[in-house]
Amino acid sequence: MNSFENLGIDDSILKSIDELGFSNPTQIQEKCIKPIIEGKDIVGKSETGSGKTLAFGCGLIQNKSREKISSIVLTPTRELALQVSENLRDYSKNLSLNIVPIYGGVSIEKQIKELKKANIVIATPGRCLDHIQRGTIDLSKVKVIVLDEADRMVDMGFIDDVEKIMAKCPKERQTLLFSATLSPEIKKIEKKYMNNPIRMMAEDYVDPSKLKQVYYDVLPSKKFSLLVHLLKKDNEGLKLVFCNTKKEVDFITDNLNHNNIESIAIHGGFTQSKRTETMKAFKNQKVKVLVCTDVAARGLDIPGVSHVYNYDLPMDKKDYVHRIGRTARAGEKGEVVNILSPRDHDNFSRILELGINVEKKELPTLERVNIKQQQTKRPSNAPFRKEKYSSKRTTKKTGRENQRRRGKPPARRSNYRSR
Ligand code: AMP
Repeated sequence: MNSFENLGIDDSILKSIDELGFSNPTQIQEKCIKPIIEGKDIVGKSETGSGKTLAFGCGLIQNKSREKISSIVLTPTRELALQVSENLRDYSKNLSLNIVPIYGGVSIEKQIKELKKANIVIATPGRCLDHIQRGTIDLSKVKVIVLDEADRMVDMGFIDDVEKIMAKCPKERQTLLFSATLSPEIKKIEKKYMNNPIRMMAEDYVDPSKLKQVYYDVLPSKKFSLLVHLLKKDNEGLKLVFCNTKKEVDFITDNLNHNNIESIAIHGGFTQSKRTETMKAFKNQKVKVLVCTDVAARGLDIPGVSHVYNYDLPMDKKDYVHRIGRTARAGEKGEVVNILSPRDHDNFSRILELGINVEKKELPTLERVNIKQQQTKRPSNAPFRKEKYSSKRTTKKTGRENQRRRGKPPARRSNYRSR
């Protein structure tokens, strides 16, 4: 294995790497740092957690950053923009560089001031365009542009904005693209905007031997009780609970707290300052259960996540891959728990096409839980308050509910196994 010393990295960055306690480069770092420092265009196939920020960070920090806005990193989400900025500040702490994150949902005035002395900008596409339109960002000196999580930017519909931003940067520049998948759209960007890029593939950072995936088949009315049971049982480490809608996130968070499981919520409906505060509380382990939607948690690297619970199964199997990648990182063990009711079976069958191994678990004996019904409209697969563990239903079943109750069984009944 290569050591950091052989990759052409400046002493000041090597010192930061040493202080951070990184002893060996990750696969993507080993492959990319040298060509990046040499100024080559790179397409890196890698997930968040692979160490790609340091890989491109070395290039941005040591070569080009003395001028005003010499590099720009585009990220799909605000949280990722903040995370990348924090990482780059860590990697360049022995130098005096101004690393400025710009993203929406917060005051633009402060950013305008900070942009005046920025060396490296980390931006979400929408806010960056806003600054371009106001004339408060000058990209004419940019030497390196990084598209971080490029596939996510495509999925989230940001690609037109990204192209507009790239058009404002000089043609003579280095372009670095990192993406978990290399879809046809990514290949189009590569062809249109990059100069003979070198392709680098890194294996997933999540160690499959350390990742256990299980599922429970449960009635919709018992989903929440099962979640409470499991969270109480697995009380070590940080837990992420994924839901498909903001409403469901709010409902679950409220009710977990109501059942003495301290939890916080994150989704796109909160202000940016609230989202930042929430992430901080979770990362610092002040609150150990974070209930979230896919968008809010996308691309985040949070050490110490022991369990990922899918309260709802995502429609898109890429989201499942993203969710499970939040655990079993850096050599740690992790468990993914899928809580399936009939309405999740279609999504689950699609996810199984990934060829993953998911073990069926028997439903434990569940205790009665308290449900606070504070929503006007009940989320579609939230438990019914009155029917819990009672044969008597006090609410009339609708045709849709009956249909849901009769929902299709999962594709296979025994352990879900790959082909
Ligand atoms: P990234 O993929 O850039 O989001 O990095 C994921 C995490 O890995 C970050 O928390 C980094 O601090 C950490 N990291 C980056 N490079 C290394 C390394 N060579 N050894 C150990 N940890 C690393």
